[in-house]
Amino acid sequence: MTHVIDGNAVANRIQNDLQECIDDLETAGVTPGLATVLMSEDPASETYVSMKQRACDELGIQGLHHELDPTAAADELFETVTALNDDPDVHGILVQMPVPDHVDRATVLRRVDPSKDVDGFHPENVGRLVAGNPRYKPCTPHGIQKLLEAADVETEGKDAVVVGRSDIVGKPMANLLIQKAPGGNATTTICHSRTTDLGEKTRRADIVIAAAGYPELVDGSMIREGAAVIDVGVNRVDAETEKGYELVGDVAFESAKRKADIITPVPGGVGPMTIAMLMYNTVKAASVQTDVPVTLP
Ligand code: NDP
Repeated sequence: MTHVIDGNAVANRIQNDLQECIDDLETAGVTPGLATVLMSEDPASETYVSMKQRACDELGIQGLHHELDPTAAADELFETVTALNDDPDVHGILVQMPVPDHVDRATVLRRVDPSKDVDGFHPENVGRLVAGNPRYKPCTPHGIQKLLEAADVETEGKDAVVVGRSDIVGKPMANLLIQKAPGGNATTTICHSRTTDLGEKTRRADIVIAAAGYPELVDGSMIREGAAVIDVGVNRVDAETEKGYELVGDVAFESAKRKADIITPVPGGVGPMTIAMLMYNTVKAASVQTDVPVTLP
C-alpha cells in the first residue's frame, strides 16, 4: 500500500509544537513578529501573503502587513525594508516575490537584515546553508525534510533526484540533502530543463523531488518501484470546474502512486509545510533576537 503523506497533518503537528514555543516567548514578554511586504497585484501573491498572515493570527504571532503600489519607486520598497530592519518588534521580514520589473530582486534580498531573513534568501544565509551551517533553512525545502522525516524516509546513503534548480526550491533542497547532518547524507542529482533523459535519472532515485513547475512532468514510468516521491509543483490547468481550472502537481499522481511507496498529494502535501516552516523560522528569529531560549520542533 502506498503511503500518501498528509501534509496538513504534519504541518498541524509542527504548528502545535510551535505554539508551546510561542507561549514560552510570551511568558518572557516577547511576541514574535512577522512583517510581510507585498508590492504586487498578482492574485496568487495576494493569496500567499494572506495565508501567511492567517497562520500568524492562528498562532499568536504578530503579523504586520505592508502593501506598496506596484508602480511605486524601488526606493520606497527599500525604505520600507530598512524601517522593518530597525523595528525591534519585527523579528522576521518576508518580501513576497515576484517584485515588479523595475525593482531589482537581488537588491531587495540584500536589503533584508540577514538575522530577520526568515525566507533564507539573503546571500549571507544562502552561503551559510551551502557551508553547512544554516541560520534559517528555506521554508519549502525545510518542510520537505520534515515530511520525509515524518514518513520515516531515511535519506542517508540514498540516491535523491531533485528536478528543478531554482533559488527557492531546487538548489536549497539539494543543499539540504547533501548536508552532513540528519535529513541529509543523500547522493544528490539536480536536474533542470537542459537535462537529457530525465526519466533515466529519476528511475535511479530512491527519493524524487519534483519542483519544475510543469504539470505532471514525472509519471509512473519515471519512478523506481518503492521510491519516495515529493511533489512541489502547483500548476493551474484548465478544467471544467467552478473556477475554470484545477491545481495539479509536477507528478502524475495516479501513475506515480502505483510505483511509489510514499508520495505527497497536490494540494495537501508540500504547500501547508511551507507556511508551517515560515512560522518556525519566525519563532526561531524571535528567540535568537531576544535571547529567550525555546525548544523548536
Ligand atoms: P522555477 O520556475 O523558478 O524553476 C523551475 C525549475 O524547473 C528550473 O530550474 C527549470 O529549469 C526546471 N524545469 C522546468 N521545466 C523542466 C523540465 N521539463 N524538465 C526538467 N526541469 C525543468 O520554479 P520554482 O522552483 O519557484 O517552483 C517550482 C514549482 O513549485 C512551481 O510549480 C511552483 O508553483 C511550486 N512551488 C510550490 C511551493 C509550495 O509551497 N508548494 C513553494 C514554491 C514553489 P531551468 O533552470 O533550466 O529553467
